Amino acid sequence: MTNTPHLTSANPARTAIVVGGGVAGPVAAMALRKAGIEAVVYEPYAPGTGNRGGPITLASNGQSALALVGADKAVQDAGWATPRMVIQSGTGKVLASLDDLPGLPPRVTLPRGELVGALQRSAMEQGIEFRFGKRFADAVETGHSVIAQFDDHTTAEADVLIGCDGIRSTVRSRIDPAAPGPRYTGLIGLGGYVDGAGVPDSGGAWHFIFGRRAFFGYIVHGDRTGWFANLPVKRLDREAVRATEFDEWMRRMWEAFADDAGPALQVLDRVTPESFATPSPLEDVPHVPVWSKGRIALIGDAAHATSPSSGQGASLAAESAVELARCLRDLPVGEAFAAYTSRRRGRVERVIAEAARTNQSKAAGPIAARIRDALMPFFMERFATPEKSAWQYAYRIDWEATV
Ligand SMILES: Cc1cc2nc3c(=O)[nH]c(=O)nc-3n(C[C@H](O)[C@H](O)[C@H](O)COP(=O)(O)OP(=O)(O)OC[C@H]3O[C@@H](n4cnc5c(N)ncnc54)[C@H](O)[C@@H]3O)c2cc1C
Repeated sequence: MTNTPHLTSANPARTAIVVGGGVAGPVAAMALRKAGIEAVVYEPYAPGTGNRGGPITLASNGQSALALVGADKAVQDAGWATPRMVIQSGTGKVLASLDDLPGLPPRVTLPRGELVGALQRSAMEQGIEFRFGKRFADAVETGHSVIAQFDDHTTAEADVLIGCDGIRSTVRSRIDPAAPGPRYTGLIGLGGYVDGAGVPDSGGAWHFIFGRRAFFGYIVHGDRTGWFANLPVKRLDREAVRATEFDEWMRRMWEAFADDAGPALQVLDRVTPESFATPSPLEDVPHVPVWSKGRIALIGDAAHATSPSSGQGASLAAESAVELARCLRDLPVGEAFAAYTSRRRGRVERVIAEAARTNQSKAAGPIAARIRDALMPFFMERFATPEKSAWQYAYRIDWEATV
């Protein structure tokens, strides 16, 4: 990677180190390339290694961001179109049924590993270089560049460094040692895909069940079911979550969903250790005060992690990647980072706050759950219409406009 000699942060960037090759990283690299900035992605894990993960849904706003870097088709081809959400109570009562806004690309659902794979392949096809086996450890600024140090003692140098290393970002703690870490939502997330559960095809609809003790989501496409469960667990013991074995998670889920209407038990009956995504505490980071310092900026979960209840984390990561590249295209580095932050912060923190409210409904006790089920149809009708959520889903970045 070459550097413009004596570039100060008042100059435009020409080269970038992208730390993390999950969702934000590949999209950032493609967007930077489109903006005329050469980017290399550094990621610890080789493609195809690790768990394929549970289902993840990319909303229309995320797909619009991907369209700007030519990666929307690859993701759509790898997933199922899922334009409807049906929200039910544990008694089986339908509380609301919501369709995607007309004229927008329908939500796409796919295994998390396949989303990352599709984005990495799109970036590679555009000529972007990935260096796998690289875990970022630290960075130093030279006055005219930034040098990243990896835990294998190698280094890389560029005009800017973009931290796309997720909710437990190391880059974030390097630019602000006092930065807040993840906040636990009170829920443990479990999920995966099963075949042959015998549940009828859901016709592109995700079903979300606010059960008596826990929350269950499922979608059926042909013979295949994508599912997830959110189990309320008040106090988080990370070590205990890691140490809990498959059979014990299954026992807890059977117990949680035993009295609910819906196909949860039918689906759980088909779950195997191989098809079961690694259980994870659901977390968010509601406010990261410092998004950039000098030649380093954060995007995606490193800057604005929303809990999965929003269904927006990956979409917001893609949006931020494109917006940051647009700012770096038009402005010197320091001004670009400031413009990026002021354009993005309000929107992403609003999504994070809304998701936090949904989490409270998912973790409701028996009395609160009864009140929730009684009031939800009223609130859904008034406040959760596709039109009311257009600010999330119809959001577009105007790539051609000058920042
Ligand atoms: C259970 C669950 C369900 C979810 N469901 C949805 C959903 O339906 N829809 C949705 O939009 N979002 C969903 N999300 C959120 C979504 O997964 C994230 O918002 C999104 O992945 C953020 O992308 P990212 O690239 O910022 O972070 P990540 O996808 O976490 O990628 C970070 C990358 O950085 C790498 N990395 C980490 N540390 C380093 C380091 N030191 N050096 C170099 N690389 C490093 C990691 O290996 C990883 O590849 C869900 C999250 C969870 C946990």
